[in-house]
Amino acid sequence: MEEVLRGDVGYDSTQLKTYMSCPFKYYLKFCLGLRLAKGVIQMLDIEFGQRFHLFVERWYQGLTPSMEDIWGDFHNVESNTDKTKESGQKLCLDYTQRYDRDEYEILDVEYCHETDINGNKFITKLDTIVKLGEDTFSLEHKTTTSITATTFSRLEMDMAMYAQTNAVNEKYGDCCGVILNAAAIKNYKRKYKDIPVGLNSNFERHIVNKGPKECAEFKRTAGHWIDRIQTDTCYPKALGGSACTMYRGCAYAELCSITDGLKVDDYVADAMFETVNPFEYLTEGE
Ligand code: SF4
Repeated sequence: MEEVLRGDVGYDSTQLKTYMSCPFKYYLKFCLGLRLAKGVIQMLDIEFGQRFHLFVERWYQGLTPSMEDIWGDFHNVESNTDKTKESGQKLCLDYTQRYDRDEYEILDVEYCHETDINGNKFITKLDTIVKLGEDTFSLEHKTTTSITATTFSRLEMDMAMYAQTNAVNEKYGDCCGVILNAAAIKNYKRKYKDIPVGLNSNFERHIVNKGPKECAEFKRTAGHWIDRIQTDTCYPKALGGSACTMYRGCAYAELCSITDGLKVDDYVADAMFETVNPFEYLTEGE
């Protein structure tokens, strides 16, 4: 497996967050380009979110997206009754009934911003930029398994929020922060509290206020972590097993637990993972 050169395409908050959480995961994902093969169960969540995202993007562009175009070839998986073609369509429809797109002035949809950080290209992709009264915000949509008390506190400190504020501020000379619309859907097999049996969607909105001070702090922090990534030639060996607190839910757990130093097991890598261009998401739509 050949290593990809770091920083060739540019950096973004996803790369930095991955490195900050686990340098070894960064190595597997962005240097070797390994990704769980399609059909492995976790991919379903990603595809579900991408389709919801596409629907919302078109809707904010003032279009009436066709459910068939978006969800027609989505393949249901028997073991997951929450993320299905039917639940995806319901979530999209419910979103348009819950939110009024005319409440904002839409400035941009799917906007890609480049900023210079210590001579490096830093890319920020934004769902939507809106004006609410006199204030400018990034408007972000996220699908999540369920909306709990910790959903927004987890997101608030997220580097992506700082990057988005900085991008809007650089483009429009003003940004009050990020409006987060979280969306979740669940198929209840039996009645739970007041929630009836069947598909139920849930939406919550949260406004993360950020301003120029946070933009300056963001640039300093991002510069520091880009520097770390560029100078790190010896990624720490994976902890794997119970020693890693993020082991459950890590897409690389199987590979990580049997990796010896940086010598990744080819058999497991070939059986469970595919090699992709890890930076494709940054150049898509260019
Ligand atoms: S299991 Fe833990 S140590 Fe291994 S790659 Fe995932 S996060 Fe990193």
